[in-house]
Amino acid sequence: MLIEQDAKTLNDRTWCFWEKDAGLFEQVVYKRWNKAWFHADDYSSLKQLSPYQYKMIRGIDFYTHCYDVIRKSGRVEVVNQQVISLENISNGVIVKTNERIYQGEFVFNSILFEKPQIKEGQFYLLQHFKGWVIETSIPAFKPDEATLMDFRVDQQEGTTFVYVMPLSETIALVEFTLFTPSLLEDAQYDIALKDYIASKLGIADYTVTESEFGVIPMTDHDFPTNDGRIVYLGTAGGQTKPSSGYTFKFIQKHAASLVKQLEKEGNPFVKVSLLKKRFSWYDRVLLHILFYRKVEGSRVFYLLFKRNKISRLFAFLDNESSINQELILLNTLPQWPFMKAGLKEMVK
Ligand SMILES: Cc1cc2nc3c(=O)[nH]c(=O)nc-3n(C[C@H](O)[C@H](O)[C@H](O)COP(=O)(O)OP(=O)(O)OC[C@H]3O[C@@H](n4cnc5c(N)ncnc54)[C@H](O)[C@@H]3O)c2cc1C
Repeated sequence: MLIEQDAKTLNDRTWCFWEKDAGLFEQVVYKRWNKAWFHADDYSSLKQLSPYQYKMIRGIDFYTHCYDVIRKSGRVEVVNQQVISLENISNGVIVKTNERIYQGEFVFNSILFEKPQIKEGQFYLLQHFKGWVIETSIPAFKPDEATLMDFRVDQQEGTTFVYVMPLSETIALVEFTLFTPSLLEDAQYDIALKDYIASKLGIADYTVTESEFGVIPMTDHDFPTNDGRIVYLGTAGGQTKPSSGYTFKFIQKHAASLVKQLEKEGNPFVKVSLLKKRFSWYDRVLLHILFYRKVEGSRVFYLLFKRNKISRLFAFLDNESSINQELILLNTLPQWPFMKAGLKEMVK
């Protein structure tokens, strides 16, 4: 049974991610790019992404596809109700919704009922962004060239960049993104978007056809994997990469490991691997650097993009790099602040 409060009939978000091969949701990939720009103040480079592709999936296509697969399977009942509470009992979990009570052997939960309790010394940054799909009357974009990160914007608030995903010569998603402790006033995102479109894209005449706003927590909070027979999924299950906010691919990897565990052991309790711990440390170090602004985020990403092959960088950000690749990559970053942050985060 799937309990979801929302009808999921709106295009409420767009997922972008990189992937080497055809993925589970290949059918609904809306647009893909083989090359993408990285811009900083004195550096602009068009990166060939091979063997990766940068892919975009529209929320609405994803929801429609998933519900279609679910319906065709004939094995999952879907109800639109609001979950009020989850409670472990000796042999299962009780789920109370606004309409009735259900019981299951296990519950897989992606609801974050409340903001996580951040302990002293833990980081909690927000990745917040506002994006506009804009349409121009004359060709303004190269549809096969995305912009992954453009740091040529004011960095006063903290790590701030824009990405541009062109969907055609006249349509693009332009997203203004920050990694900071608190949100901006709504009008500030609009001003920044308008300014970027005019000054960096050189576009004066356009209409905004869609708008999205999102907040993704960037934290080293230790999200529990489960509470008894309640197994946490998605952001609520710690699947958001703390130092980048990317979540979409991590959720799929996590779901695959849950299925494997269920098939093998008959339970969904996946152990946290040593590998995960190594990457958690890298995440904490990067969060430390960004949070305390020991090195500006714009400089960290500039060095990562300038001095590393895309394949090494993407593997690292996917938690899939080898130790050898990690040593090379870490060597491209300012040694002293990273070593200090690394030691502090190791003893914490
Ligand atoms: C606007 C936006 C854009 C993003 N873009 C990217 C991206 O490009 N790449 C990337 O990797 N990550 C991205 N993310 C981060 C992440 O991938 C998404 O947040 C993703 O949707 C997280 O999945 P989830 O299952 O954890 O949560 P959700 O997708 O939010 O799913 C939780 C579900 O629970 C339902 N729900 C909540 N409360 C209740 C309740 N009480 N009862 C019943 N149902 C309830 C909600 O309606 C929702 O459908 C983005 C996030 C946002 C907000």
